[in-house]
Amino acid sequence: MEKKYGSFDSWEIVNDSIIIKTTDLSLFKHNGSGIPKQSKWFWNVDKILPENKIPLTLIFNRKKYGAYIEVDKTKFQRARLFWYSDLGSIFRKTYPFYGRENSSYPLMRFRKLNSNIYEISLIDMVYDTDFIVNFESQKEGKIIKSQSIRYERDPHLRSQAIKIHGLSCMACGFNFFETYGELGKGFIHVHHINPLSSSKEHFVNPEIDLTVLCPNCHSMVHRNKNHILTVEELRMLIKK
Ligand SMILES: [Zn+2]
Ligand SMILES: [Zn+2]
Repeated sequence: MEKKYGSFDSWEIVNDSIIIKTTDLSLFKHNGSGIPKQSKWFWNVDKILPENKIPLTLIFNRKKYGAYIEVDKTKFQRARLFWYSDLGSIFRKTYPFYGRENSSYPLMRFRKLNSNIYEISLIDMVYDTDFIVNFESQKEGKIIKSQSIRYERDPHLRSQAIKIHGLSCMACGFNFFETYGELGKGFIHVHHINPLSSSKEHFVNPEIDLTVLCPNCHSMVHRNKNHILTVEELRMLIKK
């Protein structure tokens, strides 16, 4: 099947390893969701026969859970993804207000680790841009650096960066929801890699030019005023 990216129903295929579902009440209630036919290639189910179940492993908060995809026997061959009630009840506990009027639902991000193992994270799109410290503003190269801050704060780029890179620090792995619970939902800093090169192009690709860091790691990559560290360089410095 032809690989297609983009939005289909309430799903967005971001790239070869990331797919995002905009959740709703039904997903929380029924422990799963239909998956659009355009995404069958992503889940490697374009060749499965109706009524066959393809087992999957889902990883949530570092624990493994069972799940499966099945295709119905109608001529539409609709595919659906289900997880078992152990994971379902964890999701419901994580979002206890689901089902209430005007309650907002998180995005569910699936990161493919291999063809049948996916890591799930729940993403609340909370814009904490006021909390982003002006690391760069007082230093040399003001224009370039304030441009970089602008990219880190741009709500659209920010949400794209979080969809692609998730909510765990790319340097140390810290996740605010895992540590702070409800209060930490949706919190992370977005960092603009290589502000010099991309300021020339005036185009920021959130997949390549942006990454996500916890405030500690974000401060550390900017600490040396003459050299913004790469995420890899910082990772090498972190003492285990
Ligand atoms: Zn970190
Ligand atoms: Zn930064």
